[in-house]
Amino acid sequence: MKTTYLDILEEKLNKKSVVNEISNNNKNKNKEILAFKVLISTVLSARTKDETTEEVSKRLYKKVKNIDDLINIDIEELQELIYPVGFYKTKAKHLKNLALMVKDDYNGKIPADIEELVKLPGVGRKTANLVITLAFDDYGICVDTHVHRISNRWNFVNTLSPEKTEMELRKKLPKKYWKTINNSLVVYGREVCAPIPKCSKCIQEIKETCPYYDKLTYFNNILNKYNFRKISKNNIPNEKGTYILKIKLNSSKIIEYGKNKKEKFQRGYYFYVGSAMGSSSNLKNRIGRHLKNENEKKLHWHIDYILKYGNIKEIFITNDAVECEVSKDLREKFEFISGFGCSDCNCESHLYYLKP
Ligand code: SF4
Repeated sequence: MKTTYLDILEEKLNKKSVVNEISNNNKNKNKEILAFKVLISTVLSARTKDETTEEVSKRLYKKVKNIDDLINIDIEELQELIYPVGFYKTKAKHLKNLALMVKDDYNGKIPADIEELVKLPGVGRKTANLVITLAFDDYGICVDTHVHRISNRWNFVNTLSPEKTEMELRKKLPKKYWKTINNSLVVYGREVCAPIPKCSKCIQEIKETCPYYDKLTYFNNILNKYNFRKISKNNIPNEKGTYILKIKLNSSKIIEYGKNKKEKFQRGYYFYVGSAMGSSSNLKNRIGRHLKNENEKKLHWHIDYILKYGNIKEIFITNDAVECEVSKDLREKFEFISGFGCSDCNCESHLYYLKP
């Protein structure tokens, strides 16, 4: 595992995510207050911008300072105090129930144990790990969407869910990074290695060996090698040639295609290579058929079954007849999904997968 990336981020980033900041500002207070604030702010921070969590936390802690205050406050007042965090009504309900449970089952003390913390309403492994790390200075790995995405991009792990990423990191990641990986990757994931990565802004030492950047560059080199150009959906020329569709599947899905074929397609990007070289076809009518909406589309090719659920994000075309050559090149770096070759070639597939 190339942990040097984490060393570089720790050295170069001097920013903290909001819950880290709250924990830092309360380090000198007693453990109970620290644990209370870290737990409540982490619950509030889910699906909420850092600035909102910060502002709401400040407002809330002026009025609600401990578990007893949380038990005593009216739910309507609590909702008002935590508005506009995401799902504020549900979170207010969770916080009230959480406070009662801490009082009844844990003698009013927030438990310092992941397995106990996850029993509290609104608390998942992500929150529990962060509380363990920041409030109790114990070892935990808080894996949120940023840690999951970047750990996969860097080949630290090869997993399909944050829970599996946490378990894999627990096996592989040296303990000295457990408490810091979350802050480093959350900050970097928001600003640079975002869902659509801003590789041009990436720290050079990371970019030079980043496996994900290597794949993106490799794909761009293929486009150049075969003279592909990007076109818009509304401007497909009436010409012959080869095309690549970049398709995005927003969530994992079991898709049936062809005759009795069924497979789970993971969330992420798919590159489909097709061609329009026959006497009666051209790029305009061939790609046009892929673009038709579900109701009017004939499920002509296997890829059309995937397109019932995925969106075509980008289209690249070249006038060269290079469908199989491009496929062969893509296979060097990308995972392929078998059963998507064309009828008259020996390629195992013309469909390739890129994790998001
Ligand atoms: S090079 Fe791109 S993909 Fe790699 S870490 Fe940087 S931003 Fe992320």
